[in-house]
Amino acid sequence: MADKRVALVTGANKGIGFETCRKLAANDITVILTARNEKNGSVAVEKLKASGLSDVVFHPLDVKEPASIASMAKFVETNYKKLDILINNAGENGNAVNLEALPSIINGGMLQVFDENVDKVKEVSTETYEMAVQCLRTNYYGTKRVTEALLPLLQLSKSARVVNVTSFFGQLQFFYNKKFKAEMSDVENLSEEKIDGILQWFLKDFEEDKLKANGWPLTVAAYKVSKAAIIAYTRIMGKKYPNILINCVHPGYVRTDMSYRTGPLTPEEGARAPVMVAMLPDDGPSGRYFYEMQESTTF
Ligand code: NAP
Repeated sequence: MADKRVALVTGANKGIGFETCRKLAANDITVILTARNEKNGSVAVEKLKASGLSDVVFHPLDVKEPASIASMAKFVETNYKKLDILINNAGENGNAVNLEALPSIINGGMLQVFDENVDKVKEVSTETYEMAVQCLRTNYYGTKRVTEALLPLLQLSKSARVVNVTSFFGQLQFFYNKKFKAEMSDVENLSEEKIDGILQWFLKDFEEDKLKANGWPLTVAAYKVSKAAIIAYTRIMGKKYPNILINCVHPGYVRTDMSYRTGPLTPEEGARAPVMVAMLPDDGPSGRYFYEMQESTTF
């Protein structure tokens, strides 16, 4: 059918991304399921097909690699000539944990990765400078570069949607750095260049062991910074492209590999909010942050 909507989901071989593909396909949308690992991505597509969802295709995509992004965009252009829905879901948590010791930072089934708990968290998990660099590269720069590559095709859609999967950990309540908070809250003057500068500043402080001195988060620091940057980027892009609904969403606390299988929600439940935001009506909001199913003014 010529007018069938086409969606692309990043990091969709498992977790929330995979379940997002399932829901989109069940809503009569053509789904391009992407993953950096070809085998895992193909197996995921086969699973959806076996459940009766036939209009799902796989294409490889590593959001860290410009050549991979370019090849994915070419594939969409050649085969579909437009894109209606982009879900930037791929992400990494920027730390490595000792799984045996993990229970010592779980309370009530939830990871206690808050700064009040920093000493305990440090006993269990490691965050190196290189991990921080890679975390920003995947979560923030991956989102930005994939969006940039697909914008020309999104512009050809009659009702384009971009959904950036962020986290409540990107909310400013997790930051004590006053300058950072002021710049991130100043929507009128936010720019991609400003975000770049802030991320460089964070990495420099990370490298020089100045996170505490300068009020950055001390636990899961790069992840929190990357998700705050995604919220800020969404606000910028929502203003810059008025003909596309560009929003970001915290999917909830979901039991996936990223959360070491802790948290109250199943991946299926975690996919609800990203899909709801992807299906917003044409007069829906843009440049906003959704906390699960509700638009939130708390950033
Ligand atoms: P997950 O099951 O670990 O899935 C993460 C996905 O991202 C995997 O498919 C992974 O691929 C992919 N990925 C990582 N680096 C990539 C890269 N460079 N290129 C392409 N794909 C890459 O975790 P999840 O919980 O579903 O996470 C999905 C999104 O939800 C993330 O953005 C996460 O930050 C966000 N989120 C999750 C929670 C939660 O509680 N789980 C809460 C808030 C936000 P591989 O399998 O190849 O590693």
